[in-house]
Amino acid sequence: RSWAESGLGAELLRNVDRAGYRKPTPIQMAAVPLGLQRRDVIGVAQTGSGKTAAFVLPMLAYIARMPLPTSHSEADEGPYALVLAPTRELAQQIERETVKLAACLGIRVVSIVGGKSDGQSTIQKQASMLERGCEVIVATPGRLLDCLESRYAVLNRCSYVVLDEADRMIDMGFEPQVVGVLDAMPSSHLKPENADEELDEARTYRTTHMFSATMPPAVERLARKYLRNPVVVTV
Ligand code: AMP
Repeated sequence: RSWAESGLGAELLRNVDRAGYRKPTPIQMAAVPLGLQRRDVIGVAQTGSGKTAAFVLPMLAYIARMPLPTSHSEADEGPYALVLAPTRELAQQIERETVKLAACLGIRVVSIVGGKSDGQSTIQKQASMLERGCEVIVATPGRLLDCLESRYAVLNRCSYVVLDEADRMIDMGFEPQVVGVLDAMPSSHLKPENADEELDEARTYRTTHMFSATMPPAVERLARKYLRNPVVVTV
């Protein structure tokens, strides 16, 4: 199987080629077409499987079809897509991969992370990045929730969400923050439960991808609450 069969458009295929990804990995082969169809996905995959590109590529394809903001007021609506990850290091790694695969698409990526070398200046810097507007936020849950509560960040038009390493986010005690962030997104975008045949073509629905190496009960609980008719991909 090849990238040409993945359903990605020419610009993303070019960026994949420039990244040197000759052939899709198994998780990419499975998850990219599902993401392009806006299906919810549970990916049971480890680091090293290529899972980052597996969720970043269909997310970028979605954003590339959306109108890019031309004025300040539109930027205030917030990003089209959000990736949550457990640690600052992972979030920054995802940010780099996203920036690389988004080359030449005019998609702006901002990372909102907490962490040890942290202070007022970091928060101010992140707030001013957010104020300029972005199409993707890659964040750790606690810091993003702080930014939402202090109104530095809004998620009013966010309808593509990735929870990366969900089991680690839960292990680190971030379940309340993850729930807080997800509940800050428009609930009107959530697909109705058990109604995947009756989706209204004219409406925007939230797509949620959850990646986790293991599926403990708390992760299952998140999946049941926020994912709709998910396809489980195990590699
Ligand atoms: P990940 O599992 O997302 O952390 O990716 C592990 C590493 O594999 C990263 O350094 C990626 O840049 C690289 N990678 C991702 N997809 C591919 C691919 N299709 N071919 C070769 N390398 C890849």
